[in-house]
Amino acid sequence: LLSIEGATVRFDGPPVLDAVDLDVAEGEIVCVLGPSGSGKSTLLRAVAGLQPLDSGRVSLDGRDQARVPAHRRGMGLMFQDHQLFPQRDVGGNVAFGLRMHGFPRAEQDGRVRELLELVGLPGAARRGVASLSGGEQQRVALARALAPRPRLLMLDEPLGQLDRSLRERLVVELRELFGRLGTTVLAVTHDQGEAFALADRVVVMRDGRIAQSGTPLQVWQRPADAFVARFLGFDN
Ligand code: ATP
Ligand code: MG
Repeated sequence: LLSIEGATVRFDGPPVLDAVDLDVAEGEIVCVLGPSGSGKSTLLRAVAGLQPLDSGRVSLDGRDQARVPAHRRGMGLMFQDHQLFPQRDVGGNVAFGLRMHGFPRAEQDGRVRELLELVGLPGAARRGVASLSGGEQQRVALARALAPRPRLLMLDEPLGQLDRSLRERLVVELRELFGRLGTTVLAVTHDQGEAFALADRVVVMRDGRIAQSGTPLQVWQRPADAFVARFLGFDN
């Protein structure tokens, strides 16, 4: 479904993404791990069309996306700074993605209710987003990204601000949901437990490159090098 070839992004200094190659198959859930500043968010932004590449390419279904603007790539997006629309209420934020993806109007209210229930905010549809806590805003952003059932979901720290019990429940429910819908997911997290529970495949990044890519079991049993081992906490 998604193919990233030689993706390179440079600001000043060493490249932030350094010739990254990554393929994601239809229905696969890939979690990207790595230290702060290793290029995880930049990789997602590049796939989403929000960060131009200096070289390399991103293809969807074999089609180069270089000239396809972000809003035409048909992806569900949720970024670290989740950017809800402050002038819309919670329901309006979740429904936004539905309108953009041409979801039938008659089904919108029901879909919004369903999503808010999933993220543990039933009955919040008419609340203003400014009155929500950070974790609640994060859940609204997650609901907005999931709402139109995109084929490809890009999630950057989707559960980062949530407490452990809610996170554990959502990981299980999301994995079940993605499996049922066949959703392809590329997610960034710094929580190893979350990555290992959610992912079919884990990708560990270091300094703009992929240090290792494998199933959770492979990465856990055979870290590719000392960096990955240390990152997973094996020598503590
Ligand atoms: P974190 O875990 O902290 O979110 P990350 O792996 O997502 O980190 P990125 O946000 O991809 O890291 O950033 C990688 C590097 O690129 C960082 O050193 C960052 O400062 C730099 N960077 C990202 N965007 C820009 C930009 N627009 N201009 C200059 N430097 C940037
Ligand atoms: Mg980031």
